[in-house]
Amino acid sequence: MSCTEDLEYPQLLIQYSNGFLISKVMFTACELGVFDLLLESEGPLSSDAIAERLGASTNGMERLLDACVGLKLLGVEIKSEGAFYRNTELSSLYLTKSSPKSQYHHFMYYSKTIYLCWQYLTDAVRDGRNQYERAFGISSKDLFGALYRSEEEMIKFMQFLNAFWSICGKDVIAAFDLSPSFMIWEPMGGGGVGGLAKECISLYPNSTVTIYDLPKIVQVAKEHFIPPEECRITFHEGDFFKDPVPEADLYILARVLHDWADDKCLQLLTKVHKSCKPGGGVLIVETLLNEDKTGPLEAQLFSVIMLVQTEGKERTPTEHSKLLTAAGFREIQVKKTGKFFDVVLGRK
Ligand code: SAM
Repeated sequence: MSCTEDLEYPQLLIQYSNGFLISKVMFTACELGVFDLLLESEGPLSSDAIAERLGASTNGMERLLDACVGLKLLGVEIKSEGAFYRNTELSSLYLTKSSPKSQYHHFMYYSKTIYLCWQYLTDAVRDGRNQYERAFGISSKDLFGALYRSEEEMIKFMQFLNAFWSICGKDVIAAFDLSPSFMIWEPMGGGGVGGLAKECISLYPNSTVTIYDLPKIVQVAKEHFIPPEECRITFHEGDFFKDPVPEADLYILARVLHDWADDKCLQLLTKVHKSCKPGGGVLIVETLLNEDKTGPLEAQLFSVIMLVQTEGKERTPTEHSKLLTAAGFREIQVKKTGKFFDVVLGRK
């Protein structure tokens, strides 16, 4: 599309204004179980059958299904008796709850929690800080106390974190040859569902991974997510700002630094450097901004999420390198994975 066409009719802006409508249609179909039902059913189903089985109105369901067809989330076959809907391969793989690559919990967190917080984006930009007080009436002095404001919210957050690793975890762990490192420490909490830890032991079967997190997260991870017979994954309860960090060969900080301002990142990295065995290192896993911050859009948007919900931000490779160097790490290497999360490695 040329610039002239852009100015004659603001196609791009109309497309952008539809952004949340599109997300909400996908999230709602997930939440109601449309994709799960179509996966289980023997063949395509009519909107009446889907509405009845899911306890929804026929009037509402037909419109939702047609919008899903428009979004290529469903296929449709028009017969003399009416329209019959089926999943596309993409929906079966990523939008059903039972798929090993399911993004159901990822999208439910967006639909419920993030969507709600983003109603206060204007305030977040004005104030330059997260919006827990306005959105939920709670103080964010203790950031993770606010994020884990109820047991239900904590589990939803953990499931959200874990979903991503089923589609990006392997690329992150395989980005560098980590084979000399076998004692791995990761504050990964719900990720604690063990997504990244499981990728570590799958790629490096001789490694052991210690999941380090706040006590209540470790308890939930043990109870719900890591089978007790998996002896290569162990747990360590602690507060990484207050308590000692155990000695290890490799420290993985996945989506940890983006929660915090530079001073807290430096405090944590310095502690990690002190405990790191000589020759070991730290692997930072984050979505990286371009050096001039002109993209990628996914990283720019994630940084806005960080504004609304945390004390941190997304960073450029140079910003990460500066923090790592200030903490004492050297030989800093950056790898883009081509997927959502990239990797920065620093050595001691
Ligand atoms: N690394 C995991 C992943 O990528 O799936 C989790 C990332 S999550 C955004 C940040 C994690 O840091 C949470 O599990 C949280 O409980 C943990 N965390 C926050 N503050 C902490 C603290 N003071 N001490 C230990 N863990 C903390």
